[in-house]
Amino acid sequence: MNGTNWNRVASWLVLALLSASCVSRGPESPSAGTPSTGTELSSVGTELKGILIGTQDVRPGPGITSRGWLSDYLPGLENSPGDSPVYVLDSGVPGATALVVAGTHANELAGMTAATLLVEKAVLTRGRLIVIPHLNSSGLSYVDRSNPQPSWIRIDAASGTRFFRYGSRFVYPEHQGQRDPVRYTHPASSVSLAGAEQRNINRAYPGVVDGPLAQRVAAAVMAIIRVEGVDIAVDMHEARPSSKLVWMIVANPKNVDVAVNTIFDLEDKDILMKLDQSSEEFRGLSHREWGDHSDAMAFLIETVNPAQDPDAGPVTDHLRHPLFPLWKRVAVQLEALSGLVVNFNLVSEVGTVEYQGVPVYEDLEARGLEAFF
Ligand SMILES: [Zn+2]
Repeated sequence: MNGTNWNRVASWLVLALLSASCVSRGPESPSAGTPSTGTELSSVGTELKGILIGTQDVRPGPGITSRGWLSDYLPGLENSPGDSPVYVLDSGVPGATALVVAGTHANELAGMTAATLLVEKAVLTRGRLIVIPHLNSSGLSYVDRSNPQPSWIRIDAASGTRFFRYGSRFVYPEHQGQRDPVRYTHPASSVSLAGAEQRNINRAYPGVVDGPLAQRVAAAVMAIIRVEGVDIAVDMHEARPSSKLVWMIVANPKNVDVAVNTIFDLEDKDILMKLDQSSEEFRGLSHREWGDHSDAMAFLIETVNPAQDPDAGPVTDHLRHPLFPLWKRVAVQLEALSGLVVNFNLVSEVGTVEYQGVPVYEDLEARGLEAFF
């Protein structure tokens, strides 16, 4: 081990200690004021002409080699509001398989926007990339009345005006197929949460194939990981500004070293991210269960969404937000993903995943999202 690596190990130990002392265990704490009954909600599916309930404006680019659906992997989702597109980018060159999931919480714009850019811009040069840009189609279809926000954002892009939906955190109650219980018990563990959490896809992994909608969606993602032989899986999220989770990478314990090296690489680019690893006690989360129930390395990226602050009121301009403009949130998602893939490649025994065509931080800072849509 050379001097640089020793320095990295020493720095990692400091980082891990800091992380353990100042970061709450497990990401995605239930947000305050989350709706718990259908009476607080309203559908917005017909509010915007041309965009149907639960769909997003994703335009497949030159790297797409096939498009399927979650229901291809779990037939019980067919013709349901839980179905969602699955895009495959295959280089044709043998290598590893990466999976990117965004929009688990349909109010977390940066992940959905970053994943949409991958679908529209990325070209694989080795291995495969599978992208689910808006996993929670049901959540895209309604407004959270406890924290109402504009139900779409507008980008006057190079290709024309684009609209991207802004939905809600949970599966819509009417879609779930089961009323919220008083308490939700995670099916694969004894963890007990508030009843509405049964509609939180990121509390449902590894999922239940014949369960309520959120549990079926989670089971479909697990099926993709297994059927496609996914080697590295990355879940894109955001959190409110006051959350300890913001600007963080969470890793399954078996692959925390890849996250550590990614965080140092990002620091070299002046992108500062914190580290956490999956809790043993807090179950049902992607990075925990994907990694525990498959051979895949599993990670979660958290950026900042100012609209999730329950006291901030509506955020009408994500693109030009003074503290957290969308370009920066998307750039951090893409840089973190790239860093995780690069560091996965360095230790992978099953080949690598390599892609090009995706804007880097400096591109987005200089030209804005408008230039790339
Ligand atoms: Zn989230």
